[in-house]
Amino acid sequence: MEWQTYLKDSDVLDLYKRCKHGYNLTNVWNPCPTCFPKPSKKQVGGDHYKDMAIQPSEFIYRNELNWLQGNAIKYICRHNRKHGSQDIDKAIHYLELLKEWEYEPE
Ligand SMILES: [Zn+2]
Repeated sequence: MEWQTYLKDSDVLDLYKRCKHGYNLTNVWNPCPTCFPKPSKKQVGGDHYKDMAIQPSEFIYRNELNWLQGNAIKYICRHNRKHGSQDIDKAIHYLELLKEWEYEPE
């Protein structure tokens, strides 16, 4: 018997169109959330922010905080999951820069 009797060409093509989670890869309006997570739902290089109720990056962006404020918050939020007291020192350094540049005229 020929293989065509078991599997039609259209069945094979349909398998190539689907990811392993069953989502149709040609339908850009309904992407697989595992294969194509939204940028706000993924973290590159670690998972030390993933259990937080509000992601530091979203908090910083929505409140329009500046570079120094944002970095201070980032290091405060991750110290107990990443580099410990070094992260606290970095947060303090950003706050010291903020204090110097905002409140101490040259
Ligand atoms: Zn998938």
